[in-house]
Amino acid sequence: MTIRELFIDAEAADHPQTAAIRSRLAVPARVVPGPAALFEEVRAADDPAGRGKQVLFLTRNRGAFLKACPGTRHYTCCGYRILHVGSYCTMDCAYCILQAYFHPPLLQYYVNQEDMTRELEECFSTPVIQRIGTGEFTDSLIWEPWTNLSRGLVQRFAAQRRAVLELKTKSVNVAGLLDLDHRRKTILAWSLNTERVIREQERGTAALGARLRAAAAGAAAGYPLAFHFDPVVIYDGCEAEYREVAERLFAAIPPEQVVWISLGAFRFMPDLKALIQRRFPDSRIVYGEFITGLDGKARYFKPLRIQVLRSLARAIREFAPHCCVYLCMEDDEVWRHSLGFVPAERGGLPRMLDSAAARHCGVEEG
Ligand code: SF4
Repeated sequence: MTIRELFIDAEAADHPQTAAIRSRLAVPARVVPGPAALFEEVRAADDPAGRGKQVLFLTRNRGAFLKACPGTRHYTCCGYRILHVGSYCTMDCAYCILQAYFHPPLLQYYVNQEDMTRELEECFSTPVIQRIGTGEFTDSLIWEPWTNLSRGLVQRFAAQRRAVLELKTKSVNVAGLLDLDHRRKTILAWSLNTERVIREQERGTAALGARLRAAAAGAAAGYPLAFHFDPVVIYDGCEAEYREVAERLFAAIPPEQVVWISLGAFRFMPDLKALIQRRFPDSRIVYGEFITGLDGKARYFKPLRIQVLRSLARAIREFAPHCCVYLCMEDDEVWRHSLGFVPAERGGLPRMLDSAAARHCGVEEG
């Protein structure tokens, strides 16, 4: 969706980042004393989740930029850290958790990046490997047309040796990153899905072929890459279609440049169902064999998850036998039956991913 209006928090009005974004984003802009009136306006819209994609609020992050990823204790979690640069997204996926996660859902971008830099410098001085991503509360690369956010981050991460940055996207906005001396400390990552899921559930995202071409450009520029098959959606014929995506992926990029690939079956909080039914009336995604998991989310019946995740993992291993493949938010039984091992046999999931980062990105402990 296109941003139509810019709202500027009075506290952020004099910040140089605000002026830079304002000059690049040619839409009407208004300085407001705080977010209250804007939040109210978005909440009162017919479609708040859609309205929140049309207005951008420039403000200060008054909390922490670095946060622990909100995994749950019931499923295997990967120990990731989120760099909270902004929130929400201009693209519009039916299954997007962010529609229901923020109250109200609204594009917000934090201009006080001097505070972010300070937190990152502290983090870089701790003697352990850190995996950090900007793509949990937003798509990492939607900000590229109006900011230098990711360029700056790639350069900052290139100047240290303990942390990797993962930029996760469904866009193709990598052109501004290709000439950088990244020193392999940034992983360019794409969420992938079948042509059908992209067409039916991922409004406004780049087509599969375009994502793969952008990944190939990243590979040619020497970046380590990652891919996320998440959400894996189960439907008649899905196994063959996911296999085809794996085949196209490895026809486009060299397997040895892939740091990790995650697989995550579609899951959703109950309150997302009504929102999807209202905003995406043609979507069939919430109709299937679901059960409620230990974390309260609806998930496909376990044997179905195992069958489809196993089939996709096999396809990936056929083309990239040495690639680190992991599951997102699954228990040991699903790991065992889908991938043939449980994380504890390899030192735990965080250790598996740290080792992959060390191998591909040259990060080290100590
Ligand atoms: S690209 Fe990601 S963040 Fe954006 S709408 Fe889709 S799922 Fe949500």
